[in-house]
Amino acid sequence: MSTAAKLVKKPVAETTSRTSRPDIADTVSEIIADVRQNGDTAVRRWSEKFDAWTPDSYRLGPDEIAAVVASVPGTVLDDLRFVQRQVRGFAQAQRESLADFEVETLPGVYLGQRNIPVGAAGAYVPGGRYPLTASAHMTVVTAKVAGVERVAATTPPDRGTPPPISIAAMHLAGADEIYVLGGVQAVAALALGTETIAPVDMLAGPGNAYVAEAKRQLFGEVGIDLFAGPTEVLIVADETADPFVVATDLLSQAEHGPDSPAVLITTSEELAARAIACVEELLPGLPTGDVAGRAWRDKGEVLVVENLDAAYALADEYASEHVQILTAEPRAALRKMRNYGALFLGDKTCVAYGDKVIGTNHVLPTLGAARYTGGLWVGKYLKTVTYQEIQDAGSSAELGELCGRASRLENFEGHARSGDVRSARFGSARLEW
Ligand code: NAD
Repeated sequence: MSTAAKLVKKPVAETTSRTSRPDIADTVSEIIADVRQNGDTAVRRWSEKFDAWTPDSYRLGPDEIAAVVASVPGTVLDDLRFVQRQVRGFAQAQRESLADFEVETLPGVYLGQRNIPVGAAGAYVPGGRYPLTASAHMTVVTAKVAGVERVAATTPPDRGTPPPISIAAMHLAGADEIYVLGGVQAVAALALGTETIAPVDMLAGPGNAYVAEAKRQLFGEVGIDLFAGPTEVLIVADETADPFVVATDLLSQAEHGPDSPAVLITTSEELAARAIACVEELLPGLPTGDVAGRAWRDKGEVLVVENLDAAYALADEYASEHVQILTAEPRAALRKMRNYGALFLGDKTCVAYGDKVIGTNHVLPTLGAARYTGGLWVGKYLKTVTYQEIQDAGSSAELGELCGRASRLENFEGHARSGDVRSARFGSARLEW
């Protein structure tokens, strides 16, 4: 880190690398190659190995989906519907912000832009450690608001059975196909297609380091939303922050997995010390304290800086997935910060709201990808394409002459002749070839 900061709590493990681990990359490429060559046979082999999952079919039929949904209590279905309304409402507002348009740039020359949804999208809903039901809202609802016709959603089995609440969420969100399949084999099957699954045009959804690496390796053959690997949280706090809230919120993300960094940057040494003490007090009573404690020990960092400007600059260097601002004037971060997946302003909201209920998308960039992309949103499912038409003969002839000159500067005689033909047809030029 280039900005001067006092490191109060050091991570035991190396700071998170922005490149994939070679051992993970090797495993992933082996599985992808197998699925590419052997389709369902390979998918079944890897599912059995990693998830002890050997169903007759890993695609759920309508009756199975109905039975799973019927097994979910009505109050849970109501909660799922509530959250999906929030996600849908925000996604619809995003869709409305993307207007198609057409401009006349020269007499009779019309240039236009359209946003066309991809034809088929794969939605990955994680489920290795926890059934990440909320990812179904984020991937499936958003794709449907974008207008994607075919959404194929998949999630790993939960201890040998389809996870009922995630399946219900996928169904309520409007998934057209539901698969119970996890990890690299699921990503590869959706991207490449098998005897059971038709290939999709793009893949979205978060996942562990294997899932993220599989998306990275398959990018190009299939579109991907972004690099959304193990969760990260970074809190910027001043002396007004409550150490108990800071500690609670750090642990709420550390429990995602032992590879989840939780970072506090503060202007107050006292807050730093008290927040560290609170984390230690809270860990033994947290049912997921084993995982959160490992993440905190290995990846947790606390840094003290001179002032809030230094805190924002340092936070920008981390380019963390989630940045929470617990200061007297949280909205200042909107002006001061550039690199984050999502920003959580003030102590009345928190990352867990974004993860589970509030309606912004929780599929967000990790490993520094927030330097160049935001999170999943309606626009990721849309292709922004252009078109052009010339209705005026004079404009076509004029552009034809210019095209001839511009193309010959680059030695493109074929291009030049396309222009020549039009300047001759629609103007007074003579063909000289
Ligand atoms: P997951 O569904 O991503 O992965 C589970 C699958 O991993 C299993 O089905 C299995 O097939 C595969 N797997 C397990 N061990 C393997 C191995 N050794 N080799 C190859 N494959 C293996 O679920 P998870 O593991 O619980 O991870 C979910 C992740 O999603 C967490 O890291 C969490 O932080 C992250 N997440 C990220 C965001 C984001 O937007 N960035 C949002 C939510 C969750």
